[in-house]
Amino acid sequence: MSDSTKKLGELDKEFVWHPFTQMKEYESKDPIVIEKGEGAYLIDSEGNKYIDGVSSLWVNIHGHKVPEIDKAIKEQVDSISHSTLLGMTNPPAAKLAEQLINICPEGLKKVFYSGDGASAVEVALKMSFQYWKNKDKPEKTKFVYLENGYHGDTLGAVSVGGIDLFHSAFKELLFDTYKAPSYYCYRCPLNKTYPSCNIACAGEVEKILSVHHQQICAVILEPYVQAAGGMIVSPEGYLKKVREYCDKYDVLLILDEVATGFGRTGKMFACQHEDVTPDILVIGKGMTGGYLPLSATITNQKVYDAFLGDYEEYKTFFHGHSYAGNPISCAASIANIEVFEKNNTLTELKEKIEYFENELKEFSGLEHVGNVRNKGLMAGIELVEDKESKKPYEAGLKMGWKVADKALENEVMLRPLGNVVVLMPPIGIPMEDLKKLMKVTFRSIKEATES
Ligand SMILES: *Cc1c(COP(=O)(O)O)cnc(C)c1O
Repeated sequence: MSDSTKKLGELDKEFVWHPFTQMKEYESKDPIVIEKGEGAYLIDSEGNKYIDGVSSLWVNIHGHKVPEIDKAIKEQVDSISHSTLLGMTNPPAAKLAEQLINICPEGLKKVFYSGDGASAVEVALKMSFQYWKNKDKPEKTKFVYLENGYHGDTLGAVSVGGIDLFHSAFKELLFDTYKAPSYYCYRCPLNKTYPSCNIACAGEVEKILSVHHQQICAVILEPYVQAAGGMIVSPEGYLKKVREYCDKYDVLLILDEVATGFGRTGKMFACQHEDVTPDILVIGKGMTGGYLPLSATITNQKVYDAFLGDYEEYKTFFHGHSYAGNPISCAASIANIEVFEKNNTLTELKEKIEYFENELKEFSGLEHVGNVRNKGLMAGIELVEDKESKKPYEAGLKMGWKVADKALENEVMLRPLGNVVVLMPPIGIPMEDLKKLMKVTFRSIKEATES
């Protein structure tokens, strides 16, 4: 290891506290220092290259150092780097909003900018809460969320989060909610089997709404894939049913596409697989192609109109973040959307998804692979100690990490979720790199679990 890498590692360990990281463990190792990127590859300070198998934690879309996005950022810096969106605008923020409405499901009309996914979720929660106050139904205050759901780490988002490992420590700080079961077919919370279940998990959402709808302001969920929950994929038809129930009981539907948006599932947004339009759509992560922080809460006209009034009616949405609509981030996001068109990204993706799904079928044959699921280029491979009984590996064995460590030796960077090996490469990944990712991951699972 070079002296400069060693020095950076020491500096980092002395001064940086890392997210979602047990620092005691971190301090005992030499950290990888990522210095550069190139296409689907990350390059560390020692010159080692790794395929970015989880898109730098689910944000990267077309790869690293995309010329069009780099150029857009540089050009914007030459004009201005930031000005406020409170009561005024900037060119990229205005132009991007139009483009977002063009690619969003029909019916969404207004874009509210924030910085991270969690902030955009807070906005969605507060908007739907205030919506009913402005509509003279102040008793509609509660949210319905799903077990295994994840919407970010701020307290509102944690209140509607369904992952005990992340959320239980903060329980006393959270507001009251209604929890519906996860759409987790492999370990069905209702002990049913698809399709004979007739999507009974969606029926559980209806049960809650039918009893409590007068107190409920919104249902929030991740359409098609509960990402952080373990890349859990919903059955076809689930989303449409929930949309129908929300309409029937006059409750808003918030769809969190922070992870699934921007082509990840094969369509621009996951809800477009079922022609469902939410009242509020939340996007983030891939919005700038994975270059800069930017998120948005996008609403229909109905939600927006409820906030219109004379100043002294106090219907204003009193919420905002300092860097909302940052022009550099918005310029990167415009370039990101333009690259989709220029490279025919969604069309090219079809062939990649077909290959990906074919390869994934092979994984099911491995001795300790209990379940393989995917939507588009998002996949979860669930490792089990015993296939027959679906007995999970004990958490202390860190089986997911054993697989990731093996992959790292073979130039592939992964980050598992417990016993679930996650594959979520940039959708712009060249075919040959995708092939390498699949081969290395397959071998790493086999070696980690069968030796
Ligand atoms: C990552 C994620 C968030 C939170 O986004 P941040 O930018 O990390 O705050 C919210 N919802 C979903 C579905 C996510 O995957």
